[in-house]
Amino acid sequence: MKVFKFGGASVKNAEAVKNVGKVLLGYIGQEILVVVSAMGKTTNSLEQLAMAYYKNSLSKHDLFLEVKSFHDNIINGLLISKDSLTYNDIENLFIELDCELENAPDKNFDKIYDQIVSYGEIFSSRILSAYLNESGIKNRWMDAQNFIITDSTYREGKVDWETTNLLISKKLKPIVKKQMVVTQGFIGRNKDNYTVTLGREGSDYSAAIFAYGLEAEEVTIWKDVAGVMNADPKKYSAAIKIDAISYPSAIEMAYYGATVIHPKTIQPLQSKNIPLYVKSFLDPKESGTLVGIDKSLENLPSTIISKGNQVLLSISSKDFSFIVEDNLSKIFTAFAQCKVKINLMQNSAISFIVCLDNEREKIDQLKEFLDFAYSIKINEGLELLTISNYNAANLKEIIGQRDLLIEQKAGSTLQIVVN
Ligand code: ASP
Ligand code: MG
Repeated sequence: MKVFKFGGASVKNAEAVKNVGKVLLGYIGQEILVVVSAMGKTTNSLEQLAMAYYKNSLSKHDLFLEVKSFHDNIINGLLISKDSLTYNDIENLFIELDCELENAPDKNFDKIYDQIVSYGEIFSSRILSAYLNESGIKNRWMDAQNFIITDSTYREGKVDWETTNLLISKKLKPIVKKQMVVTQGFIGRNKDNYTVTLGREGSDYSAAIFAYGLEAEEVTIWKDVAGVMNADPKKYSAAIKIDAISYPSAIEMAYYGATVIHPKTIQPLQSKNIPLYVKSFLDPKESGTLVGIDKSLENLPSTIISKGNQVLLSISSKDFSFIVEDNLSKIFTAFAQCKVKINLMQNSAISFIVCLDNEREKIDQLKEFLDFAYSIKINEGLELLTISNYNAANLKEIIGQRDLLIEQKAGSTLQIVVN
């Protein structure tokens, strides 16, 4: 049994959807679960729609129509027959969303966000499933929310592994054994039957959750790149593809910001020793990158992972007290309350410095939270680079004319923040 994940770029228009069909033709007769993300940049559009709905702004109607016409174009390009039952299902979904936008919005924005934004994956999986069936690749559409059960942390659902594993192994597995199944990434459901998403770019994680429960023989993430690269080829012309990498190295790379694999994906796979392939949907016969070899067999080139749009916050106490246990505990509590993720931190006697993604709303909230006792300085527009197996020569080249604001070493990994 194999789990295939197709991301937004692989279904961004009708041609791309047809290409997914071509890739799948190579696997007819095998036991396959297809996990698909929202088409192209739909999630971003739906985020705007969710906000407009929440604020009851009139723009919600235009935003809805934009999303609908984007999908209508793809449906037309795929020539899905308008009198088929599946076509009606897709039409009905749009009516359902349109009607939902007329209800008075809940007070909890994160909850609304998940109910609206999750339509992206429902649309894409319905359309893909219908197209595949009409072109002879028989499959069954299934709702991922029946299997992935989470708590109620909207926008960042925590998986209830026990229930989820039981549902996938007992209910989904027998179906995949009989027929190809098409389902969604990114979404699950809580015990109150509300949709909960797993965090942006979470479809890779969904694929890993399904693979875990199905005890799949492998997972493939189909991308528009040849595999996992050692650096961003748009920034470093010497970037090369990594042929094979161990689970721990892949976790580190993803955690530090390599965007090819979602950071939460690897651990469930590692715990069941399920290999993960990252392959190009444009060259499906190419070997791509294999994640899951023994660390001792690894021969990794120096890797450079860049995270742009970073902010440094310098936090110091207003009463000049040192930043030790007591202050640190208050500061960390504020970070947890505001759900702010720290990418790198450094503390000295009188200040605590953190490097974060520039998420304005969360940072403003954090400032409010800490204002009672701390003053905060902000430095924006920075880049965080994580370089493994580095040497002095390539480091100079990477930094160039920029100022080095923070530098931290752990083993052969170096992290720097530059402006
Ligand atoms: N569609 C979601 C997003 O864009 C999930 C994913 O693509 O993995 O964040
Ligand atoms: Mg995506």
